[in-house]
Amino acid sequence: MNYIQAAAALLTNAQHICVLTGAGISAESGIATFRDKQTGLWENYKAEELASASGFLANPELVWQWYQMRRQSIVNKQPNAGHTALAALQSHCEQQGKSFTLISQNVDDLHEKAGSQPLKIHGSIMKNHCHDCLAAYTGEFLHTQALIYCSHCGGLLRPSVVWFGEGLPTHTWQLAENATAHADVFLSIGTSSLVYPAAGLISLAKQQGASVVEINPNPTHLPHIDVQIASKAGEALPQLVTALSYSKSTT
Ligand code: NAD
Ligand code: ZN
Repeated sequence: MNYIQAAAALLTNAQHICVLTGAGISAESGIATFRDKQTGLWENYKAEELASASGFLANPELVWQWYQMRRQSIVNKQPNAGHTALAALQSHCEQQGKSFTLISQNVDDLHEKAGSQPLKIHGSIMKNHCHDCLAAYTGEFLHTQALIYCSHCGGLLRPSVVWFGEGLPTHTWQLAENATAHADVFLSIGTSSLVYPAAGLISLAKQQGASVVEINPNPTHLPHIDVQIASKAGEALPQLVTALSYSKSTT
């Protein structure tokens, strides 16, 4: 049995399935991960320095421009075979009466474009809110490099993403933890598992009795992985869906 078949067998026998995705699942759509080197103007900065409230308050123009650049590079990107296969996997599981929860660390909207509704534990890069009064902003923002100020309090608008050092959205995080704690199978896809608390979901799943499958061309070698698929998400996930359909038609 190869690793895809091993993962398919775990999914066939599971009742509660939970999936965590990271920047790696969007890599094949042409969106850089945090582990990729920054290019051009940005190569002297670490993503962690730009993605923080202290970085924003020290130099709001710089951080805003970095996000505007990332938004421009994301806005026309399309989901890849990995995102599409995950949406198909969810339909397949739900048709069989299984529960399926997709949790994503990604701030892009490629899961949504593929038809999924992920729990976005790190927020959404295409939304903004006021850094001071937290009011959501719904106006145009993509076509300006200039800072935008809140119409309620005059504070600075910022992207609605969770920065390093900030707390996660409470309700979304609770749903994610709950689904993880009840999972029989937990799939970790395209994440370096270095960013906490998201990475803690993998060990929580294992502690609560789930089998853990990792899909990553650069395996993390974490001790709690049961099945390691050392391939790209856009290759492994369609194979997994095919293996599952096959196992259904032969049983
Ligand atoms: P990461 O950048 O730390 O790690 C990416 C992982 O993906 C690496 O382990 C890499 O080996 C793996 N990978 C690369 N190509 C892959 C492929 N084709 N298929 C499967 N795996 C592949 O990303 P992270 O663990 O998500 O953590 C970084 C933080 O950065 C997250 O909080 C996330 O919100 C944020 N981020 C998001 C995006 C996005 O929304 N697309 C992009 C960059 C960073
Ligand atoms: Zn405000």
